[in-house]
Amino acid sequence: MKKVSLTGDRPTGPLHIGHYFGSLVSRKELENEYESFVMIADVQALTDHFKEPEKVRDNVMEVALDYLAFGLDPQKTTFFIQSKIPQIAELTVFFSNLVTINTLKRNPTVKDEITEKKDLFGAKGEKLTYGFLGYPVSQAADITIVRADVVPVGQDQLPMIELTREIAEKFHRIYKTQIFPLPQAKLSQAPRIMGLDGNAKMSKSLNNAIFLKDSPEEIKEKIKTAKTDSFSTASYDPKKRPEISNLLLIYGLIHSITPQEAAKEMGSVNYTSFKSKLAEDLIKFLEPVREKRKGLEKKSAEVMNILTEGTQKTLARAEETINLVKKAMKIDY
Ligand code: ATP
Ligand code: MG
Repeated sequence: MKKVSLTGDRPTGPLHIGHYFGSLVSRKELENEYESFVMIADVQALTDHFKEPEKVRDNVMEVALDYLAFGLDPQKTTFFIQSKIPQIAELTVFFSNLVTINTLKRNPTVKDEITEKKDLFGAKGEKLTYGFLGYPVSQAADITIVRADVVPVGQDQLPMIELTREIAEKFHRIYKTQIFPLPQAKLSQAPRIMGLDGNAKMSKSLNNAIFLKDSPEEIKEKIKTAKTDSFSTASYDPKKRPEISNLLLIYGLIHSITPQEAAKEMGSVNYTSFKSKLAEDLIKFLEPVREKRKGLEKKSAEVMNILTEGTQKTLARAEETINLVKKAMKIDY
C-alpha cells in the first residue's frame, strides 16, 4: 500500500511564487510515490475571511486553476474542497477536547497571524475568535482524516504538524487505539520566501506577492518596487540584508543555483540592472504556467469536475476514518 500525503492551500487569493518553491515543487515529487491529496481549505480561509464569503468562493477556482497550470496531475493527485468533507468538522470537535487553550495561544504562527490581523482581531487580540484560535485543531483533522503520513508544507506550518502529532498521540493513548500515522512535515528547498515588502513571509493576504498568474507588466512593476536596502550592489546575507538576499534566493531558484551563486553572478551590477534581469527571467520562468492557465480558464466546468471527483474519493476515505474514531470513542451507536 502506498503511503499517503496531504497538503492544502487557503482560497484567499491566487497562488504565488512562495507556493511554487515552498510547496508545489515537493508536491509534484510526491505525486508518483505517494497517494496524494491536495485540499482547498475554504473552511480555514473563513476563519479570518468570514465577512468575505464571495472572496473565498471565487478563489476556490483560482487555486484549482493554479494547481493544474503548475502541472499537478489529477490522475495522480486527488483534489478536494474542505467544506465538502463534513467528517473533518466532526473530527475537529472530537480533537478540541485534546488541546488546551494555552497550547493554541503559544503557537508561534497563530501568534504572528493575530498580530498581522489587527483590523479583525484588535490591536491586542481582544477580538480574537474561537474559530481562528482553533484553526490548528481543524488542520490536525484535515491531515488525520485521510490518515496522512507526510505533509509537504512551508516553514510556517511546522508548528501545526507538530500539534497534529501531539493530538494523534494523545488520541491513541486515551482511546487505546492506533488509527493515525504520526505525520511528518516535508519542507522544500525554499521553505520561506519573504514578501517583496520585506515582510518575513510572502503571503496572499499581505499584498506582497508575485502571483503565478501575474502578467509580465505586473511582474516588472512588482520587482521594480520591491524593497532593497541602501547599498547599490547585491550580496547574500539573509540576517543583515534580508530583502536583497530574498531577491537573490528567488533568482537562484528560477536558475537552479544557490543564492550564493546568484550573488556571484549578480553582485557586480547595480540594483536597477539586477532587478530588470530578475523580472525578465521570472517572466520567462512563469510563462508556461501563465499560458496553460489561460487555456484552463476557458474550461472551468472541467476543472470543477476534477474537484467533485476528488471530493467523492476523499469522502470514502474520511468515512472510514471517522468510523474508526467513533468506535474508539465508544460513540458508534
Ligand atoms: P494566507 O495569506 O491566506 O495565509 P498564504 O500565502 O500564507 O495565504 P497558505 O494557503 O496559507 O498561503 O499556505 C499554503 C502552503 O504554502 C503552506 O504549506 C505554506 O507553508 C506554503 N507557503 C505559503 N507562503 C509561503 C512562502 N512565502 N514561502 C514558502 N512557503 C509558503
Ligand atoms: Mg498562510
